[in-house]
Amino acid sequence: MNYNSNFKNIAESYLFAEVADRTAKYSAANPDKKILRLGIGDVTLPLAPAVIKALHEAVDEMAVKETFKGYGPYEGYGFLRDGIKDYYKSFGVEVGADEIFVSDGAKSDLGNILDIFARENTILVPDPVYPVYVDTNVMAGRKIVYANANEANGFLPMPDYKVDADVIYICSPNNPTGAAYTVGQLEEWVKYALEKGAVILYDAAYESFITEGGLARSIYQVEGAKSCAIEFCSFSKIAGFTGTRCGYTVIPHALKKDGMSANKLWFRRQATKFNGVPYIIQKGAAAVFTPEGMAQIKANLAVYQRNAAVIAKCMDELGIWYTGGKNSPYIWLKCPNGMGSWEFFDFLLSNAQVVGTPGAGFGKNGEGFFRLTAFASEETTKEATERIKKILG
Ligand code: PLP
Repeated sequence: MNYNSNFKNIAESYLFAEVADRTAKYSAANPDKKILRLGIGDVTLPLAPAVIKALHEAVDEMAVKETFKGYGPYEGYGFLRDGIKDYYKSFGVEVGADEIFVSDGAKSDLGNILDIFARENTILVPDPVYPVYVDTNVMAGRKIVYANANEANGFLPMPDYKVDADVIYICSPNNPTGAAYTVGQLEEWVKYALEKGAVILYDAAYESFITEGGLARSIYQVEGAKSCAIEFCSFSKIAGFTGTRCGYTVIPHALKKDGMSANKLWFRRQATKFNGVPYIIQKGAAAVFTPEGMAQIKANLAVYQRNAAVIAKCMDELGIWYTGGKNSPYIWLKCPNGMGSWEFFDFLLSNAQVVGTPGAGFGKNGEGFFRLTAFASEETTKEATERIKKILG
C-alpha cells in the first residue's frame, strides 16, 4: 500500500490558524481590550424567514408516509433546478434545467469536478487565489501555472497567449481581492479558452453582491461561453447557507470534446459517488427564489453591502489603494507605509485591536496586501473603521 504522495506537495495551510494564534496571544496579554474581527469569510445573519418556513414544512412532509422522501435525484429535484433556471433568466441568461446540478456546495463541486479531467491537463490559476483551486490540483499531481494578479492590473489578470493552459480558474467577484470582471473582460477569456481548446471553471459564488452594470453575473453572458465554461455557484453567500449546505453547478450540453460530453461525464460521476442533497435542504433553497424569499435575502445582503461601503469609504478617506468594497463583501487593501501583510496584521491588532486576513496567505502576489470582510455586524464594522482612521489618519 502507498498513500497519495502528492499530499506531501500541498502547502501547509497555516493562514487562519496563525491568525487565530496571534489573536489569542494578544487577547491573553491584553484581557481588557475589545477585539473587532473583520477577518472572517463566513456570513453572520440568520437564514431568511421564508427559508426557515420551507425547511419546517419539508421536515413535516418527512413525517408522513404519503409525502416522505427517500433517495432523491442525483442531480437535484426539478423544483429547485427550475428555480435556479428562472433565477438565471432574471439576469438574462438562458440555461436548461438539465444543465444544472444541485450539490452540497461550491467547494465540493470545485474539487470533485476534477474527476472528469485527465491528470495531464495544465491548470491556470490566478495568484492570489482561493486556495481550493490549487490544493485540489496538487492532490492530483497536476501542473499548475499562475496568472499574476497585481496592483497594475487591478487584480484582474487578462489572458496571456504565450501561456498554454487546459483548465482555467476564474473567480469573479473574487475571493480574496473583491475585484470583479466586466462582461467585456470575460469575452477575452472566452476567446482565449476557445483558441487553446481549454475549459474555464468559473466560480460565481459572490455574484449576488454585484450591483453595478457591465459586470458579469454569469460567464454565460458571454457568447461562446457555453462551449468552453462550467459555472459554480452557491446558496452560501446569497442566502447564508454556509452551514446549511447547498450549491449548484451549470454544465452546458455544448461543452464537448472527442465525442465526450462534460454534462454526461459529470452526471455519471455524481451518480457513482453522490446521492444528492437532502430534500429538506433543497426545499429551503428553493424558497430563496420566491418573491418573499428574494426580498428577505436582499435585505440581508444590503447589510453586508453597507458594511463594505463603510470600509471602502474609510480607505478612500485615508487614501489607501484597494480593490473590492463594491460588488463584493471583500476589501483588498494595500498595506500602508510599505508594510508587509503580517506586519500590518500585527500593527492593526496591537494598535486598533482589529483583526483582518494577511494577503500573503493567498499567494505570493498577496504579500503587502490585506483582506477585510463585510460580514461582521454594522456596529463592529463602524467601530473598526473609526479605530483604523484614528491610527492611520
Ligand atoms: N468559492 C469561493 C470563491 C469561496 O470564497 C467559497 C467560500 O468561502 C466557496 C466557493 C465555497 O462555497 P460553498 O459554501 O458553497 O462550498
